[in-house]
Amino acid sequence: MMGIVFKLVLLILMLCPLTINSSFQYLTFVQQWPKGYCTANPSRCQRNPLPTVFTIHGLWPGNFTKILQNCRTTSYTKLKNFQDWNNRNLRWPDLAKPSPTMQNFRELRFQSFWEHEWKKHGTCSENMYPEATYFSRTIQLSQRHNILNYLAMGNIRPGSNPTVSSVNSTIYRAISNHVPDLMCVTPPRQTPALVEIGICFTATMTTIIDCPSQFLRTGSCGIGTINFPA
Ligand code: 5GP
Ligand code: 5GP
Repeated sequence: MMGIVFKLVLLILMLCPLTINSSFQYLTFVQQWPKGYCTANPSRCQRNPLPTVFTIHGLWPGNFTKILQNCRTTSYTKLKNFQDWNNRNLRWPDLAKPSPTMQNFRELRFQSFWEHEWKKHGTCSENMYPEATYFSRTIQLSQRHNILNYLAMGNIRPGSNPTVSSVNSTIYRAISNHVPDLMCVTPPRQTPALVEIGICFTATMTTIIDCPSQFLRTGSCGIGTINFPA
C-alpha cells in the first residue's frame, strides 16, 4: 500500500513541473512597420517623427491549440529612470502616444503600451521570463532580427508595392526557411498596407520555428500586391 502511495506521490511530483512548463509552447515575436500602423490607424497614430525601422509590438506566448492571454494578474513595474525609459522606447515605442518630456515620462500613459503587452502576453510566459527578462529578451530579439534588412535581401524597400508572396518568401528565406506571420490592414478602398511581421520561436527563444498555421494572419494581406508605405 505504502509503495503505491509513494509511487503516486512521485508521479504527481514528476508531472507537476511538466504541466506548469507546458502552459506555453512557443513565442511569436511581432514587429511592426510604423508607417504601416499609421496608415492603418491614422486617428490613433500620434508619434512624430515616426521611426523608419520596424519596431516591437510584442512577444506573444502561445500553445499549439490556442493563443494565451491575460494569464496572471501580476502588475506592471513602471520605469522610473529616463535613460531606462528611453532605451526601451528606442525599439518598443508606443506609436499611439506623442513623445513625452523628461518631466512627464513617468506618467502611466507613456508606459501603458508596455503595461498592456506585459499583462496581456508577458504574464503567459512569466514562469520562464519574469518581467525584466521578458522586456530585455524581447529587445534582444529585435537587435537580432532586422526586418528592413531581411526585406532588402529580396529588394523589397519602403515606398514599394511588393506582392504578398514575395514578402512572405523573402522573410521565409531570411529566417532559414521558416514560415513568418504577416499582418496587413486594408483602409477603405485602398490596397492592404503591411503592418506587422511575426517570427516564431521555441519557448527557450533559441530556435526559430514555422509560425503555427492556424494563427497566421497572412490572409489579411490578400493575394496580390500590398502597400509598403515610405
Ligand atoms: P495585442 O493587444 O494583442 O498586443 O495587440 C493588438 C493591439 O495592439 C491592437 O489594438 C493594436 O492597435 C495595438 N497596437 C499596435 N501597435 C501599437 C502601438 O504602437 N501602441 C499602442 N498603444 N497600441 C498598439
Ligand atoms: P492586432 O494586431 O490585429 O490588433 O491583434 C492581433 C491579435 O492576435 C492580438 O489580439 C493578439 O493577441 C492575437 N495573437 C496572439 N497570439 C497570436 C499568434 O500567435 N498569432 C497570431 N497571428 N495572433 C496572435
